[in-house]
Amino acid sequence: MNRSRSEELFACAQNLIPGGVNSPVRAFRGVGGTPPFIARGQGSRMWDVDGNEYIDYVLSWGPLILGHCFPPVMDALREALAIGTSFGAPTEREVEFAELIHECVPSVEMLRLVNSGTEATMSALRVARGFTGRDLTIKFEGCYHGHVDSLLVKAGSGMATLGIADTVGVPEAFAATTIALPFNSIAAVESAFQAHGDKIAAVIVEPVVGNMGCVPPVDGFLEALRDITARHGALLIFDEVMTGFRLALGGAQQRFGIQPDLTTLGKIAGGGLPLAAYGGRADIMSKIAPTGPIYQAGTLSGNPMAVSAGIAMLRYLKSHPEVYEIVEDRAAQLTADVPDGITVNRVGSMFTFFFTPGPVTDWESAKRADTGRFRQFFHWMLDRGIYLAPSQFEAGFVSAAHSEQDIARTVETARQFFAATKAE
Ligand SMILES: *Cc1c(COP(=O)(O)O)cnc(C)c1O
Repeated sequence: MNRSRSEELFACAQNLIPGGVNSPVRAFRGVGGTPPFIARGQGSRMWDVDGNEYIDYVLSWGPLILGHCFPPVMDALREALAIGTSFGAPTEREVEFAELIHECVPSVEMLRLVNSGTEATMSALRVARGFTGRDLTIKFEGCYHGHVDSLLVKAGSGMATLGIADTVGVPEAFAATTIALPFNSIAAVESAFQAHGDKIAAVIVEPVVGNMGCVPPVDGFLEALRDITARHGALLIFDEVMTGFRLALGGAQQRFGIQPDLTTLGKIAGGGLPLAAYGGRADIMSKIAPTGPIYQAGTLSGNPMAVSAGIAMLRYLKSHPEVYEIVEDRAAQLTADVPDGITVNRVGSMFTFFFTPGPVTDWESAKRADTGRFRQFFHWMLDRGIYLAPSQFEAGFVSAAHSEQDIARTVETARQFFAATKAE
């Protein structure tokens, strides 16, 4: 596969942008080689600047559950464009969008729109601290909640890929407000609350982890978090930036039947534009300025373009519940048949092939995966036109635009890899 134009651009980019990319994992450090520079997308496919075609299982890291250039979203954007790109004043669509989100995710009684998932988790945490008058937060190893200072402790995603446990540039005092515990360990949460219960403002969790690869909660884990936080007067924050509108219209909280106090949303919510939200109980959210003393603001928050894309996306998902059956069926087909020595984790349309016998239930078990073998697998697939996340520690996604033929071709290409490498 010729990628000479991508190679030229990547060389150039590295002089101007750290690592040549605007988000670290895009640089392919976890797998080596040159990232294809993307020229366009359509449905389940993307084309790079050298004209190579890929079946895309990254989908902009989650947002594109209906595929690239989904017509209702594109139409909404064209309509919005004609009216103006930003006003910095309230608009009718923000009300419509807030209603729509509340209908899809009923625990979100009130919400604020922001521009990125990072902003959503950062703000949710501030609100949790302001509301409870406490400083500490519990997070889980391998979960990623954006690049919020205090949450970049044992974080997943790019941190896991690059082997960075704790980032430089975060004051120790910030990191000290975070208690990082093993995902799926109820005992660890119990004992942290025993020790610091009256100082813990919130537990923040990816209810199904995507950012150390896909790792589901064990039976009873989310229930235990709900119960323990309630007993100690701490808030439960579901970071559903990835799982929201993906695992069900109402996200993981609908799928698992647990009601958090606060929820963060992003990715799918913006239909591929920069948009995220945080929200939850009205008594908590009304403590935010101007109705309360907790400050949070944004020049472009509720941006008309992003809100229009979000409305088109959520309206479509709400009126087409079969989307969730389609993506789940396709993902099941994709992950049905893996050879010994490989663990496949899948929840709905999120999946990861871990190159370890497993089981993979937390960061300790995820990092046992053979990243060298993943790297071979990744390049084998990429060179045959299948675009997976360039890291062992990321989830893959299926969209409703993926056809059975797309999946069959992907399965066959993977099968050839397993057969070829077994023979070695
Ligand atoms: C992607 C992600 C974020 C960060 O969102 P950005 O828009 O990249 O800032 C936060 N939490 C989770 C669970 C995510 O998957």
